Amino acid sequence: MIEISSRAMAIKESVTLKLNEKAVILAEKGRKIYNLTAGQLPFKPHPQLLESLQRGLVPLKSFQYTAVAGVAGLRKKFIEYIKQSRRLESELVDFGCVVSNGAKHSIDNIIGCIVNPGDEVIVLAPYWVSYPEMIRCWEGVPVEIASKKQDNFLPKVEDIAKRINNKTKAIIINSPNNPAGITYPQEWMKRFTDMIADVVFEYPKITLISDEIYFELTYDNSRPTYHYQFNHKLLERTVIVDGISKSLACTGLRIGYCLAPKHLAAAVEKLQAQTTSGANALVQHSLVDFDFGQMENFLNPIRTHLSNNAQIVKKVFGGAGNGGKGLAECWYPINSAFYFLIDFSVTPVFSRYARSNTSGNDYSAEICHDLLEQKGIALVPGSDFGVPNSGRISLVLEEKEFTEAMNILAKFLS
Ligand code: PLP
Repeated sequence: MIEISSRAMAIKESVTLKLNEKAVILAEKGRKIYNLTAGQLPFKPHPQLLESLQRGLVPLKSFQYTAVAGVAGLRKKFIEYIKQSRRLESELVDFGCVVSNGAKHSIDNIIGCIVNPGDEVIVLAPYWVSYPEMIRCWEGVPVEIASKKQDNFLPKVEDIAKRINNKTKAIIINSPNNPAGITYPQEWMKRFTDMIADVVFEYPKITLISDEIYFELTYDNSRPTYHYQFNHKLLERTVIVDGISKSLACTGLRIGYCLAPKHLAAAVEKLQAQTTSGANALVQHSLVDFDFGQMENFLNPIRTHLSNNAQIVKKVFGGAGNGGKGLAECWYPINSAFYFLIDFSVTPVFSRYARSNTSGNDYSAEICHDLLEQKGIALVPGSDFGVPNSGRISLVLEEKEFTEAMNILAKFLS
């Protein structure tokens, strides 16, 4: 038998994909399944982008390698977009942009270019499930900073400061946040900026990786803010990651990018050249053609859809009647990305699991398993995101189905 490397063996299976697969199998067998695991929007991309993709099918260049870092016109466009949307004016002159096969690939490239074996990377819980795995794959050590639902899942800035040391190579900040569905508020970001501004100059090896893939997906009229907007000097230590997967509803087209100080962008380009070459040529050329100004009117109905479903969560779990059923404590207000975490530990059903005492102190997987098997509700266990005894709910389902799913869930939990 072919021997699998210890590195590959150590990678955790993607629970999201596994549960999604199980939900699909059950649905194929005829069961009514409410699949709340999805990380993608059920919307087709903007018609202008579809036209642009069709036009792109003609020229030969759409089928040939692009420059490793991406098509020059597109990189310029992404830099322009970041400057405008993050209100940065002319501060990005010393930055390079590298287009990759999705933001996930961009993040992996960056970690690969800055982490040596044994280096620590700070991740703020709740965190995107792939960060710790990518860090381990590059032989780094993920360092988790916990946060609480009562604090709206905002980690304490002092807790982050306490964990920084000579081994710290990076801090990953993801706002708007998957899986919490919150954006780190301006006051939090200011406090973080003040703390980090002192620390990064004391520890010259720290990079701030800002994963902004959900930047466009706030649905309460707020705009996310970032540390580098309060202190432009921090741009020297920052990598911004974004992509089209979420903002243009194109998860399958696999285009993401990073903006990094030029020497780091050059290293990312070198790594990418020897691993995957450039990203998809057809999509890159089509995006050069696409007017990013169209994004706003494309996103408005999507934001309304997410906001409506967030209201349903509030109505079902926060409504006057449900406090009595013991559910008033299991939710919190959300405003962005397309998920939220439901806290199983404060619901009446939890005592049944805790009594079984079979899973240490975390029963997320058991509860999610039973929810799927017994009620046809597919959630992702929150333990994968650093929050035990919770489940991640995706807000993307159509409103009627989503309401049904929330009512079934509420009944199960109470
Ligand atoms: N970052 C976060 C927080 C995500 O949730 C995702 C996708 O779910 C990504 C990055 C990756 O996006 P992409 O599809 O561009 O690789």
